[in-house]
Amino acid sequence: MHVKIALAGNPNSGKTTLFNSLTGSNQYVGNWPGVTVEKKEGRLKNKKEAMLIDLPGIYSLSPYTLEEVVARNYLLTERPDAIINIVDGTNLERNLYLTTQLLELGIPVVIAVNMMDVVNKRGDQIDLARLGKELGCEVVGISALRGKGIIEVAQRAVTLAQTGKGTPCAHRFDAKVEAALAAIGAKLKPEIPQEQKRFYTIKLFERDEKIVGQLKTIPNVEPIIAEVETELDDDSESIITSARYTYIASLIKDSQRKKNKEKLTTSDQIDQIVTNRWLALPIFAVVMFLVYYVSVTTVGTFLTDWTNEVLFGEIIPPAVENFLVSINCAPWLQGLILDGIIGGVGAVLGFVPQMFVLFFFLAFLEDSGYMARIAFIMDRIFRKFGLSGKSFIPILIGTGCGVPGIMASRTIENERDRRMTIITTTFIPCGAKLPIIALIAGALFGGTWWVAPSAYFLGIAAIIVSGIILKKTKMFAGNPAPFVMELPAYHWPALTNVFRSMWERGSSFIKKAGTIILLSSIFVWFTSNFGVVEGKFSLVEDLSDGFLAVLGNVFAWLFKPLGWGTWQAAVATLTGLVAKENVVGTFGILYGFAEVAEDGVEIWGTLANSFTPLSAYSFLVFNLLCAPCFAAIGAIKREINNAKWTWFALLYQTGFAYAVSFGVYQLGNLFAGHGFSTGTAIATLLVVLLLYLLFKPYKKSTHSKTVTTFVG
Ligand code: GDP
Ligand code: MG
Repeated sequence: MHVKIALAGNPNSGKTTLFNSLTGSNQYVGNWPGVTVEKKEGRLKNKKEAMLIDLPGIYSLSPYTLEEVVARNYLLTERPDAIINIVDGTNLERNLYLTTQLLELGIPVVIAVNMMDVVNKRGDQIDLARLGKELGCEVVGISALRGKGIIEVAQRAVTLAQTGKGTPCAHRFDAKVEAALAAIGAKLKPEIPQEQKRFYTIKLFERDEKIVGQLKTIPNVEPIIAEVETELDDDSESIITSARYTYIASLIKDSQRKKNKEKLTTSDQIDQIVTNRWLALPIFAVVMFLVYYVSVTTVGTFLTDWTNEVLFGEIIPPAVENFLVSINCAPWLQGLILDGIIGGVGAVLGFVPQMFVLFFFLAFLEDSGYMARIAFIMDRIFRKFGLSGKSFIPILIGTGCGVPGIMASRTIENERDRRMTIITTTFIPCGAKLPIIALIAGALFGGTWWVAPSAYFLGIAAIIVSGIILKKTKMFAGNPAPFVMELPAYHWPALTNVFRSMWERGSSFIKKAGTIILLSSIFVWFTSNFGVVEGKFSLVEDLSDGFLAVLGNVFAWLFKPLGWGTWQAAVATLTGLVAKENVVGTFGILYGFAEVAEDGVEIWGTLANSFTPLSAYSFLVFNLLCAPCFAAIGAIKREINNAKWTWFALLYQTGFAYAVSFGVYQLGNLFAGHGFSTGTAIATLLVVLLLYLLFKPYKKSTHSKTVTTFVG
């Protein structure tokens, strides 16, 4: 029989880790909420008849954010045949809150107490049998990360699903509440099946609007609720909530023994340093500096040099050329294959090793639990100008690819903050921008230490500055929502997870090279090598007579004030809208990457001659900050869901990029001793304007103070 089993639990309880091991798939595991914003399905590895569904993390069945709605709707309307409720064993109290609600759904539930490895290491004890007895359902201890107990959980869930009997809810509220629930239940129309009655009566009692709205006929239960409320002197929702907490406290008292309550765990000790008020930011800066420095400039370069010089220099092009000559291939086709495809795609592939090294480090930092702390550290800064640390999570995810980063904004409840986060997320350099960074750092700065890391910090600065400026406008004003997030204990990342995550992100770039970059390279080669010579359409001798040059020259002047008004640079920027790697691919074709490499002349030499370090840096700045690639623009459009705002986002990003590059180039020239010009004057005015926008007083709204809490 075909059965559906849903994985439900709090964010960060290990749902996706369990899902991946049970189904053998490679879903993204992250240390923050918002990673799984949509449900994912997969077949159990050794029980093909069972479907497993990974849901976004939820704290309760009373949803506030979009992703929570996804999870609740799935459980309510699709009604899986069984639920595996994952509970973080190191944080039973908070996790069991959802459990008490899941058990009311009338669906078979098996509880998987996860992170047992951490629990055991701390010397704590959980009496699983007792917990199961009191909750009235099966409880299994597992470690999703180490693969312990996971088969057993799956087995039990499948068995339960096949019997089809909902787990009866063992928990009873106070007698008065139960009496009210019974009275409400009696009024429920038979449209609600028997096993779902308990859930609906409780929701009616709580006056949950979304649930009440789903009922075809709404019974009049207000007098029943009001009576209990006066009697217990509290509103109905709070009555239910506090009853749940009392229940959980009794469960925990009976079944959990903590070893040393006072002693700080190693993880807490690390946190005292790493999230320290003064040290946190410097430590973060050093960590990210090292990550970019090592991946782009040291280890990464070593690998990339080999790929560029040996693989796409000495090995592939001559071999292909010999082959093409031997089969008498037409010269234009040889040009297309060697200069267009190998030149363009090869130039991009050359940087893939650096990407892999970067993704390795990022995966390591995420999996160990460090990155989750950064959201907290950033919360302190963001809060000062009215944003919450939640806005930083999409940015962290965006270092891989902007698209999931933008989607992760769904965790933000406040519509204005969500919009602002979507607009600024792509300022952070994504994987596809890495080749541009590496190219400029390597070919134009000879591997100078600060260039690659500066790209990352530039992104962060752009986000913070935009945040401050935009928040002061009417469109985005408002107080930040409180930010609560679980901080999982630090742990040594499982290497398989780190490699899986690195491969997942990195391999998509290889796939892109074989598809979109390949097509773009062919397009660029044709349009640059063909033109109208003496009134005839033909191959051109000099690329500056080709169609692409004509097109580039139409708007290259726009970039003159930024220091790189050549048609090649303009065209590269334009192709970057299709995919950011295209910037490098286009340069590879236009500056003869393959040819030069073959002669043994230093590769990228011709490119280096057409830039100065300053104009190259300005080029980098513009391409990092301007409108993202089409895929990300599509994501912005979908998530903002409004044409006006989408245009605002793109114009803001591009305008901001232009202003910053302009400032960098013009003021850089001044410092380099090129004298004062109109450009310098405008740039100075821009800086003054920026400072004004940054420091003009922020009109604080007076209502609702917010608190940040550490949990976990
Ligand atoms: P989700 O948000 O519920 O999908 O949780 P994830 O599967 O993304 O996991 C969150 C974090 O907890 C990741 O860093 C995992 O590596 C870690 N994790 C998951 N299961 C275990 C476990 O059994 N033991 C330990 N120590 N860590 C785990
Ligand atoms: Mg997940």
